[in-house]
Amino acid sequence: MTDMENVNIKINGQSMSVPADYTILQAAREAGINIPTLCYLKDVSQTGSCRMCVVEVKGARNLQAACVYPVSEGLEVMTNTAKVRASRKTTLELLLSNHDRKCLTCVRNRNCELQALSDELGVTDITYEGYRTEHEIDEVSPSIIRDNNKCILCRRCVSACKNIQTVAVIDATERGFNTKISSPFNKSLAEVPCVNCGQCIVACPVGALREKDNTDLVWDAIADPDKVVVIQTAPAVRAALGEEFGLPIGTAVTGKMVSAIKGLGVDYVFDTDTGADLTIMEEGTELLERIQNGGKLPMITSCSPGWIKFCEHNFPDFIDNLSSCKSPHQMFGAVLKTYWAEKQGIDPKNIVNVSVMPCVAKKFECGRDEMEVNGNRDVDIVISTRELARMIKQSGLQFNELPEIKFDTPFEEASGAGVIFGATGGVMEAALRTVADILTGEDLENIDYHQVRGIDGIKEATVKIGDKEIRAAIAHGLGNARKLLDSIREGKANYDFIEIMACPGGCVTGGGQPIVPARVQMVTNVKSERAKALYSEDEKLAIRKSHKNPDIVKLYDEYLEKPGSHKAHELLHTHYTARPKF
Ligand code: SF4
Ligand code: SF4
Ligand code: SF4
Repeated sequence: MTDMENVNIKINGQSMSVPADYTILQAAREAGINIPTLCYLKDVSQTGSCRMCVVEVKGARNLQAACVYPVSEGLEVMTNTAKVRASRKTTLELLLSNHDRKCLTCVRNRNCELQALSDELGVTDITYEGYRTEHEIDEVSPSIIRDNNKCILCRRCVSACKNIQTVAVIDATERGFNTKISSPFNKSLAEVPCVNCGQCIVACPVGALREKDNTDLVWDAIADPDKVVVIQTAPAVRAALGEEFGLPIGTAVTGKMVSAIKGLGVDYVFDTDTGADLTIMEEGTELLERIQNGGKLPMITSCSPGWIKFCEHNFPDFIDNLSSCKSPHQMFGAVLKTYWAEKQGIDPKNIVNVSVMPCVAKKFECGRDEMEVNGNRDVDIVISTRELARMIKQSGLQFNELPEIKFDTPFEEASGAGVIFGATGGVMEAALRTVADILTGEDLENIDYHQVRGIDGIKEATVKIGDKEIRAAIAHGLGNARKLLDSIREGKANYDFIEIMACPGGCVTGGGQPIVPARVQMVTNVKSERAKALYSEDEKLAIRKSHKNPDIVKLYDEYLEKPGSHKAHELLHTHYTARPKF
């Protein structure tokens, strides 16, 4: 019997009623029956091409791929027959026969879907030894290393780049045994309009894509007695770092993270949330000025370097819409090498600013020519959340047993507005909290803008503040950004203020965050769980508006004068460059 929306099926003899639009894979996973996958990644890739998820379907002559096979009334499936097991094992052995298998020295050792499958399917020997293709490693990009010797041609990266981000700079080329993933004309990722978002890295089940590892540079700086090493950590890092140490997704680990970084031998640990508060002061002022003086609207946020590069390549006509604000860690880096250095009596040349970011595009960003003040780089080294975890593991610190400590003073307490920067909609909400107080001249109590939260790809809200209406839009993931900007170009939409984040979900699911296996992603909404950690930290804080952060107030009083001042522009603002589309 069929319900309106459900169908009755049997998997391994077990009867169940499941939604009619499910695949066999979804039905099985919900029933707690594991079917192995490799090319499948929820919301990113569903091609049925790797043949790892094959099952027997009653009445069908051949084995079927469970990730693309739709359920139907009366369907009977067997997921664990001898034929199924043998087919999966052969598929896996063939993949392994052309794989470098250097697990011990691989960045994905113990978090590799291929390695896990070898274990689960009982591969103890490589049956098909023979000729192996050898590929040159592409390590020119400041953000990403591509090693096709480990690639299993699942094409999850291709789908992330082409379908989710609409950047499309990688694809499968050549045929048969010579098939490989590459950029047009075999160029390096550094020579094509790759935006360094790293969404291909977090989609990859193996170690074929990884971040450019800068941990040795940080260790060298720590070991240099002439250097003062300052680490700042982005809001999203605390929402995910714990996963590298076995904690559940969405566990905020702020205090332990600070403790661990101190334990590495770093001199000072600051919170990029302070930089986020500073960004709101500058960006909010810029928005009000544009609204009140007829400036270019919509104004679009500029915190996400992947988005900035995407705009420079694909939407140069929107460059004047971009806020001139540097991203929070660059702003904070500039403040540390000027205001803070002067106060501490340290020569800025001896300061090594390290940013721990959920993002690999920030590795590219910190090297942009314009990111310096008086010949001093704002930020010297960027490492990802994954690299920080690696350093903590190398140091022997027992992360879960560390005491919780606070960030260093000054800048010890940032606002809740700074914390939520890490989730999609967070920058918009933080800006609204400040802009609303300025426009009304009040200290408003109702500061939770629920209409800009959540993980819909494009969100719209009209926010009434006093007698003004601000038309806002938020997009995360570059495919959504493209849709939004196309609709503005075509005159179909009109806004005052837009927040764009390159990564789907915002920074919490950035390209530098811990990599969650496809199997877990199928049943856990990683974006929402990590965002929840940030919103709950925001709720607990006494100061939740950027302009109420006493360190920020002091910084303007003592050094920057006021938001948008000449000094503020010198340190905190930047410009952008149109770049070729291809
Ligand atoms: S990608 Fe996986 S299987 Fe391959 S070498 Fe690395 S850890 Fe081992
Ligand atoms: S970093 Fe982003 S733009 Fe570059 S190849 Fe990967 S997914 Fe594509
Ligand atoms: S690089 Fe990774 S994601 Fe891309 S095809 Fe190879 S294994 Fe799959």
